[in-house]
Amino acid sequence: MPRKLGQHFLVRDSILERLASAACGGHAKRVIEIGPGRGALTRCLLPRTDELHAIEIDASLAGYLESKFAAEPKLHVHRADVLRTDLAQWGPAVIAGNLPYYITSPIIEKFVALDAGFPVAVMLMQREVADRLLAEPGTRAYGYLTVVVRLVCDVQFVAEAPASAFVPPPKVDSAAVRLLRRPQPPDSLPRLISFVGRCFAHKRKTLRNNLRPAFGAVVDTLPEAPLRAEQLAVPEFLALYSKLVNRSF
Ligand code: SAM
Repeated sequence: MPRKLGQHFLVRDSILERLASAACGGHAKRVIEIGPGRGALTRCLLPRTDELHAIEIDASLAGYLESKFAAEPKLHVHRADVLRTDLAQWGPAVIAGNLPYYITSPIIEKFVALDAGFPVAVMLMQREVADRLLAEPGTRAYGYLTVVVRLVCDVQFVAEAPASAFVPPPKVDSAAVRLLRRPQPPDSLPRLISFVGRCFAHKRKTLRNNLRPAFGAVVDTLPEAPLRAEQLAVPEFLALYSKLVNRSF
């Protein structure tokens, strides 16, 4: 079994049901599932949707799914790398998955970059990453990923999944979160995300030191200059960015 593909299959029905219901509510017109594996979550998603696109990189698992669900016209199995797949190609959808953990962050960032046609993602991930998404400013878990996600989404805890809920068990515990996209993204999101990246470039350094290379000595005059990025809440990042790009301070 290619462990490097993060193949830990979730076998606890109660958690699978919670993931499917958190993603679809009563019903979702279209669902995209990331990493369906042997189809445990797929089976719970199918009754809740009209159309399910399941993206699986492992050709043998994709073939297995095609035969397992051969009588199910709602399911479309795509043998592909999710990071190289245009998730918008089938139209608006909700997203669900027990993620391959080696690419959790890029998958989350890919979801963030989508638009209002993708209002919800329910993702099972390492507990430590779920904690980062849910973290408050000033805590150890709060960082770049926290802020980037919360620029765009509200994050809700869905379920814990201990290592014993998987076959084979991973080395870490897991948790599922629901990302709920807010209706209006902030203006110039890609530039804002790169600004947040600069603020966190060296997590232990002050904003003065992290922002000087891009904005020059002018950052010294900001009240936020002696703070570290992890001390700012999301609205404070927005205010700081706006001050710097408009030079209004
Ligand atoms: N959903 C199944 C479950 O809950 O039992 C399997 C989850 S397993 C943690 C992750 C799945 O993602 C595996 O089936 C793996 O082959 C697949 N995978 C890994 N990398 C992928 C990628 N880049 N694109 C799509 N699928 C990927």
